Amino acid sequence: MGQAKLRKSAKESGRPWAPAMPVAVSSATGTNEQVRLMEHLGKLSKLAEENTRAALQAARGTNSEDNRLDALHTILQGAMALMEREVESGYAQSPTSQNLKSQIACRKGCAFCCHLAVEASIIEAILVWRRATQREDLTMAIRAHAHRSANVDPDKRWAMRQPCPMLGADGACQVYEDRPGSCRAFVSVDAKACERSLMTAGTDKEDLNVPIVPFPRQIETAISIGVRRACAAENLQSCNVELTAALHLLANDPTAPGRWLAGETVFHPYP
Ligand code: SF4
Ligand code: SF4
Repeated sequence: MGQAKLRKSAKESGRPWAPAMPVAVSSATGTNEQVRLMEHLGKLSKLAEENTRAALQAARGTNSEDNRLDALHTILQGAMALMEREVESGYAQSPTSQNLKSQIACRKGCAFCCHLAVEASIIEAILVWRRATQREDLTMAIRAHAHRSANVDPDKRWAMRQPCPMLGADGACQVYEDRPGSCRAFVSVDAKACERSLMTAGTDKEDLNVPIVPFPRQIETAISIGVRRACAAENLQSCNVELTAALHLLANDPTAPGRWLAGETVFHPYP
């Protein structure tokens, strides 16, 4: 096992698998290109930060729990729409990136990657939990399974082959509309390689050589940084969390979102 932590992560350092051939945003190899890339990602972060701050202020200005959660939902939708636009724009940049897009293997029901630990923002975790509370089977899944894998070391989590509690028996994400950005940005061009990686995890035949598309993760990272900066600027706990652990905490303490919005430190940071 190498040093890389196996997780769906907003952190470049957490990138678990080998990138597919670098394209689009990632293909910035010259100094000027790299400067332009960094400037562009910086602008994305700033935009996400400004939009998030405005929505957080709106959330804190209401006295109804539902309205507060609706305002958080606005943040998620805005951040995800921004991400999807940027990713599409990345794919459109060149014939090479268009070709890469055509090779994407991700499909509904393909869920080997849903056994990875998921790194999410606090807002994302709250919104997954909110959606889960609309279905008794999902809240039961959190209560029944989350303690097994919550906050487990990401490498061990992968080797445990323990699925995300939001993964349905049909292999589909049951909170698809509200899934975290790190899940959306995790894209592979070889499902067989994903399967092989999961099935060999923790064995002497371990093979982590999965070709992922890197630039959606760069974009997601930039936006995630902006969201977290906005939380910090509003004096809210701003760390990322491990999704399963956060869901477990939320299931046991429904006051957690309100206390977080009131400025309390509620969640366990995910390093
Ligand atoms: S990343 Fe791999 S396991 Fe996940 S949906 Fe895509 S191809 Fe399937
Ligand atoms: S939230 Fe959904 S997409 Fe993300 S790991 Fe869980 S089941 Fe998979």
